[in-house]
Amino acid sequence: MNIVALPAFSDNYIWMLHDGRQAVVVDPGDAAPVKAGLESHRLQLTTILVTHHHPDHTGGVNALRDEFRVPVLGPQDSRIPSPVQAVADNDTFELLNRRWEVIHVPGHTRDHLAFVCHDETPLLFCGDTLFSAGCGRLFEGTPDQMWRSLSRLKALPPATRVYCAHEYTLSNLRFAAAVEPTNADIASYIQVCTRLRAQGQPTLPSTLGQEAKINPFLRCTEPPVMASARVHGAKDDRPAEVLGALRQWKNQFQ
Ligand code: ZN
Ligand code: FE
Repeated sequence: MNIVALPAFSDNYIWMLHDGRQAVVVDPGDAAPVKAGLESHRLQLTTILVTHHHPDHTGGVNALRDEFRVPVLGPQDSRIPSPVQAVADNDTFELLNRRWEVIHVPGHTRDHLAFVCHDETPLLFCGDTLFSAGCGRLFEGTPDQMWRSLSRLKALPPATRVYCAHEYTLSNLRFAAAVEPTNADIASYIQVCTRLRAQGQPTLPSTLGQEAKINPFLRCTEPPVMASARVHGAKDDRPAEVLGALRQWKNQFQ
């Protein structure tokens, strides 16, 4: 499977998967970069996938649907420009000769879905739920929901490639280092990602194995993370309590 990052706005990635002929895009917030990507790779768009309703993920849906007459698969949510073929937790479908699986991951929004494409290694398109070294803001969900959602993603194989919808990695890593100042994996990954960004390269995809070592929001059961969360308002060591405290701390973190 070929996967292309189409940058959009200031820090979004629209992921385009293709087999050399047909293409699928995930979260087209803008139609222009998708059209340019299809043209430069000489691809035919066959399907649009949407993880959640936010405009930076759906802004290009109508224009692309009208021009290419393709189905849009996404959550049942009236805020997504219709018509959408609603898919839900545990649904499976086939695209580009691969089996795909839907995981409902409420937290950032209540409608949020993640898509897993079963390629040789699984590919995870997680929108704004899981970021490299971070997670989405809790606009509509609770820390409990987000912890459950992240735990389901974390349970996928460690080799799973993680395709997030934003390039937030370096700023997330700065926060991760504040949560765990002695975590050597975070320190060395800052070096790796700093180099990539200096070369104008995405830091994505990450892998779930890598995220398990550096992402504080996946590490809410690690004693150093629990201890830091206590200093920043966590009342006990329940993972959702830890996650909630980290998320609030991160919202104000400079
Ligand atoms: Zn969003
Ligand atoms: Fe977003």
